[in-house]
Amino acid sequence: MSFIHSIKFRFTIWYLIVLAILLGTLSAGVYFYLSRSLYRSLDNSLELRSNQICSVPPLLESIWSGEFQEKLGEVVMLYFYTGSQLVEVSPPSVNASLSHQFIYQAINGRSSFATVEDTEGQQLRLLAVPIHLGIPGMPLSTQPGALIVGRSTRQIDQALHGLVRTLVIAVPLALAVAAGGGIFLARRALKPVDKIAQTAQEIEENDLSQRINVNTRDELGRLAATLNAMIGRLERAFRRQKQFTSDASHELRAPLAVIEAESSLALQKERPPGDYRQSLETISQESKRMSSLIEQMLTLARADAGKEQWNLTEVNLGRLITALSADVEVLCHEKGITCQLGQTQDLVIKGDEARLRELFMNLLDNAIRYTPTAGTVSISLHREAQMAVVAITDTGVGIPAEEIPFIFERFYRADKSRSRAEGGTGLGLAICRYIAEAHGGKIEVESQVGVGSTFSVWLPLLSL
Ligand code: ADP
Repeated sequence: MSFIHSIKFRFTIWYLIVLAILLGTLSAGVYFYLSRSLYRSLDNSLELRSNQICSVPPLLESIWSGEFQEKLGEVVMLYFYTGSQLVEVSPPSVNASLSHQFIYQAINGRSSFATVEDTEGQQLRLLAVPIHLGIPGMPLSTQPGALIVGRSTRQIDQALHGLVRTLVIAVPLALAVAAGGGIFLARRALKPVDKIAQTAQEIEENDLSQRINVNTRDELGRLAATLNAMIGRLERAFRRQKQFTSDASHELRAPLAVIEAESSLALQKERPPGDYRQSLETISQESKRMSSLIEQMLTLARADAGKEQWNLTEVNLGRLITALSADVEVLCHEKGITCQLGQTQDLVIKGDEARLRELFMNLLDNAIRYTPTAGTVSISLHREAQMAVVAITDTGVGIPAEEIPFIFERFYRADKSRSRAEGGTGLGLAICRYIAEAHGGKIEVESQVGVGSTFSVWLPLLSL
């Protein structure tokens, strides 16, 4: 990636633009403030000087007589109006053309300031004030007059030029230093981003064990932690998927092997019709097992993809479990197990009746499958706070405590050989948990080896 397209570059450019605007505004502000205050103090000094001259008659007389000693760079002039013309009584001390309006304004009693340029191109700041001399023996002095005092602005101009020169050098220099500092800081701050990108590139689909090693407490540290958590989730999901695929192929291979062996054996030579029937029965049994396995795998795949369609209605759980216990009566009877319908009541929840039936049937199926002859399977329903609790209890083989945390995992079997022999797929409880959770509920198990198990399904009641 070229530097021009990097965030570092954009950061630095924006930072420089903002800094340049700030420094430019600040410099202009300093220039105007200084120039205003310098001119104001010049105007004040001109006012002081005019007051001083007006209040000391000998000074005026010396101007009149041409003996007045001006200070360096100073201009002092005296004008009178005779009624028909303007007369300058002091010797001309400035080679600049003054506007008559400026002088007449003072003669008419109004002081004013003006800036003029003399013939040498030098700027002069002038103040015109009205005066009344009234010196006996000096006929003009009884007429209205104007005193003009002025000073060259050279010093102010020099100071302002000096300031401009300094700013013209200092501002670009400050911007250059800021640019260098900005690039350095941006590079340092964004270094973890390169690290994150590099690790992300190194991570491959088959090896998600790598993690980003950025341990700062800032935003990038948090980003790295979030990405690490995401990679962890992906790793677990990939692992689960791999496990699921290998378990699924393993589960499908067993019935397929039986079908293959059974059919090739039947085809080897002519056999009596009874043998063919037996082979076909075995093949049909294994096919059923395969199709139920595939059906369950599809359910879980839909669950993973979030594509399950739920047909939600108001379901009376009391009625549902009464019907289910009647349905399993036959199965229990076949195995010599007692089926009991315990306490029940009319509790209504919002749910998909077919999927709830599947959930309870799976649990009842397991209870019957893992309970030996002469055992008991019972089903009951009661209410706890805002939840309906369906409990399916058996007096079967029970589940070892160390196995309980895993029995809801896909393809997990506590006793592998027995479960398969009993026709189990290892997916039933995973589907049960999925259905319970999709209804906003949960499933719990309590079990003791040799005593029996109780599976409790908690489902939120319909709030009216
Ligand atoms: P399976 O099809 O193998 O029964 P499940 O997911 O339904 O698969 O159950 C997972 C495992 O939990 C079973 O293999 C079995 O070992 C154990 N299990 C489930 N229900 C019971 C039960 N009622 N009594 C004893 N063990 C059970």
